[in-house]
Amino acid sequence: MGMTDRKAQLAANLAKVERRIAEACAAAGREREEVTLIVVTKTYPASDVRILSELGVRHVAENKDQDAAPKAAECSDLPLVWHFVGQLQTNKVRSVVRYADLVQSVDRSRLVTALSKEAVRAGREVGCLIQVALDADDSGRGARGGVGPDGIEELADLLAASPGVRLDGLMTVAPLTGEYAGRRREAFGRLMDLSTDLRRAHPAANMVSAGMSADLEEAVAAGATHVRVGTAVLGVRPGLG
Ligand SMILES: *Cc1c(COP(=O)(O)O)cnc(C)c1O
Repeated sequence: MGMTDRKAQLAANLAKVERRIAEACAAAGREREEVTLIVVTKTYPASDVRILSELGVRHVAENKDQDAAPKAAECSDLPLVWHFVGQLQTNKVRSVVRYADLVQSVDRSRLVTALSKEAVRAGREVGCLIQVALDADDSGRGARGGVGPDGIEELADLLAASPGVRLDGLMTVAPLTGEYAGRRREAFGRLMDLSTDLRRAHPAANMVSAGMSADLEEAVAAGATHVRVGTAVLGVRPGLG
């Protein structure tokens, strides 16, 4: 597909997603400005990121450092906010803090320590969301990363006390297993309650990142401030991603 065709396709997809968000906001009695669209560009090339930027997208997300680092470097001239949303190994943190404005997948204290140290070293401030696992087992961890609700407070306090990092809020992925499996509305409602609790001690940590291509309406209805949309904008990803 040529660049012009790709641009037309992405513009059409973006318009559809924009309409969905606007309708979900209207149905929930919320202002459209209360919800930020983050386009998840994982597995898609830097050329798509460039087109999205031309089409007015301001927030993009990636989930693997080895793909994200070169892509962000190629797009460093664009006015984009980069979100990192994947499970993050501490040995990748030094690379991630160079381009990520926000890390949405903070789920353990060792990661906070590493992010703080590398952000300070890079002279950067990195916004952090605590990834909440609503399917956490007895170990307190979720199948796809995240910390159980009982672990939020400790991570929040650690983030708030650490230089180079900023506690911005909570993120979740609707669970496929456990008590919230197939109950997205309830899952996102639970995340909102946890956000209310968090904001009692940390009032500025007001970001709530929830909702993807399949369930952004439920997330907006529950009160999400950020939705992370990949497939509905860029198309079905080839293979896993
Ligand atoms: C891939 C991904 C998304 C986007 O999912 P889609 O179903 O393609 O919209 C959102 N959040 C995270 C954490 C992801 O890894």
